[in-house]
Amino acid sequence: ASRFDNITMAPPDPILGVSEAFKADTDEMKLNLGVGAYRTEELQPYVLKVVRKAENLMLERGENKEYLPIEGLAAFNKATAELLFGADNPVIHEQRVATIQGLSGTGSLRIAAALIERYFPGAKVLISSPTWGNHKNIFNDARVPWSEYRYYDPKTVGLDFDGMIADIKAAPEGSFVLLHGCAHNPTGIDPTPEQWEKIADVIQEKNHIPFFDVAYQGFASGSLDQDASSVRLFAARGMELFVAQSYSKNLGLYAERIGAINVLCSSADAAVRVKSQMKRIARPMYSNPPVHGARIVANVVGNPDFFNEWKEEMEMMAGRIKSVRQKLYNNLCAKDKSGKDWSFVLKQIGMFSFTGLNKAQSDNMTDKWHIYMTKDGRISLAGLSAAKCEYLADAIIDSYH
Ligand code: PMP
Repeated sequence: ASRFDNITMAPPDPILGVSEAFKADTDEMKLNLGVGAYRTEELQPYVLKVVRKAENLMLERGENKEYLPIEGLAAFNKATAELLFGADNPVIHEQRVATIQGLSGTGSLRIAAALIERYFPGAKVLISSPTWGNHKNIFNDARVPWSEYRYYDPKTVGLDFDGMIADIKAAPEGSFVLLHGCAHNPTGIDPTPEQWEKIADVIQEKNHIPFFDVAYQGFASGSLDQDASSVRLFAARGMELFVAQSYSKNLGLYAERIGAINVLCSSADAAVRVKSQMKRIARPMYSNPPVHGARIVANVVGNPDFFNEWKEEMEMMAGRIKSVRQKLYNNLCAKDKSGKDWSFVLKQIGMFSFTGLNKAQSDNMTDKWHIYMTKDGRISLAGLSAAKCEYLADAIIDSYH
């Protein structure tokens, strides 16, 4: 007998479990469209050239491995807030943003969740239905109550805008509203600029607090500014808000665990206090964050040549994803004789496409075609090559009918 006999087997993670199943498949046509990580046309992982250059520079400088402060690397925190809001945004000059370095997007969301649990007892977080699978885990573990607002409309494979607005309106005053800054995961469906304005209207009306998850700045459209426009629109209205950031995708720093949590406050004084409490939350969780990724970001953003190179590589990655999206669409239209409207594929943005395939159809994709994807019908276009677009289109059409 073991003291641990009452500990039952945990279920596999629905996203990371897909990669494990993929590895075990020996079919040569197999394709992993499960996890959201960028691949080259040869379907290999990609380290940005500008990241290698920044790392070489860091090595030459012989930097030490001393602990960072609890809040992380100062040069990183400054760079990340400026990248998000724009360096000339009044919220930066007025020192109204409390920023601490986090353990990528996930760890940054977790700090914010802990802050909500401590200072807004009973407040609910509204999350989109569907959303990135880990959001619910994060709020559950932080003991923050949450409920869902309507987002996805299966009839149009588009946004259920009226449902979304109605649910945000119906929520108790002063709730947190979790919003994907750009490239909504898993649907790839974003509100239009006009819809963002209306979302901001109801959030203000109801005294809710917007909480942005920005995991794809620059990676979705290829432009850092365009992908931050939703956050900046809310900030320009003078609203207080949360923003979690990640450099996993846009700088390809997945395993470095580099990101930040920003709290935009209505005064510099509030920002100082909020920051002090976020540090207090971080200290017993992990003491202080890792330095390597923070130095990479600070060096890339701080050097004009590197910064331009980064933007070029981001455009290249976003461009490759857009081109396989187009190619998949072309193949679907050319090969499907049912008259189905596939235009939703092109309306979506970012690395994911929501195919509209249900669980049984997604199972067919995997069992018959060896295409690995999450069971909600999401495919990662970042894991697709031009050469495999036709095969994927065949599989989707077969699974639909
Ligand atoms: N939020 C969303 C919506 C995401 O898609 C991701 C990455 N899959 C994250 C947060 C966080 O990822 P990470 O912790 O690697 O930054």
